[in-house]
Amino acid sequence: MTLNVTLLGTGSPMPDPNRAGPSTLISAGEGPEAEHYLVDAGRGVLMRLAAAGLGAPNLTAVLITHLHSDHITDLNDVITTRWVMTFEKTPLTIIGPVGTQSVVDHLLASLEPDIGYRIAHHEDLDHRPPVTVIEVSEGTIELPDGQGGAVAITCGETDHKPVEPSVGFRFDFEGASVVAAGDTVPCLGLDALCAGADALVHTVIRKDIIANVPFQRMQDTLDYHSSPEEAAQTAAKADLATLVLTHYVPAMPMSGTEDDWRDLAAQHFTGTIEIGDDLHRVVVPPRT
Ligand SMILES: [Zn+2]
Ligand SMILES: [Zn+2]
Repeated sequence: MTLNVTLLGTGSPMPDPNRAGPSTLISAGEGPEAEHYLVDAGRGVLMRLAAAGLGAPNLTAVLITHLHSDHITDLNDVITTRWVMTFEKTPLTIIGPVGTQSVVDHLLASLEPDIGYRIAHHEDLDHRPPVTVIEVSEGTIELPDGQGGAVAITCGETDHKPVEPSVGFRFDFEGASVVAAGDTVPCLGLDALCAGADALVHTVIRKDIIANVPFQRMQDTLDYHSSPEEAAQTAAKADLATLVLTHYVPAMPMSGTEDDWRDLAAQHFTGTIEIGDDLHRVVVPPRT
């Protein structure tokens, strides 16, 4: 029985032929009893999920760290595909910061013509997409009855200001735990989530490179993301075993090799540093 992290999308707002938008899969257990949590739903998420051998119907819940467009671009695809690819009513739970309900309401409104077409055309499809939104800020998250249960999920506030609110999530399963930070600068809320955990999945940007890009719009991104060095400091402070970096800005290979990125983090963190392409998988073993 293991807790696994799969980087479904390691990209960023900038379209990249090889990297899907930000999205991470946290899987606990094996076989049909396994629970699968999707953290963020960036560009191409269902293509990558299919490559990982899963589909929208397999998701236990979707968790959104914040409402930046690149982290939610394909949420509509998850909602629709889950709805049309299940033959029984299969509720989809979407967990996110305050504001998520409104975004989902607007997505469903934009899908209204499609929902009407399909219900009219398919005799056996007699219900609208069953979506439940749970807005969270911190503490334990309770999923609706019959969903999940093997994984304890908690959330805490992160700091991605002026994007507000933003949250990170922690998943505990049979003595192993992983935190998904999303986009944030180092902050107390993330430190609290990481305390006693084993692994941290953190989005990062190369500030040393971005600082030299002569466009103010790129420079603006410096103050609300972490660099590999800062993510490493957060991981070191909590004495974690593993740091998983994702959401590479600028993308590799333009921004160097994986080793270049790893070396920056390794200046501050002596544990295992995982960096990879889309579908890179990391096993988080139970603490011994
Ligand atoms: Zn963001
Ligand atoms: Zn982002």
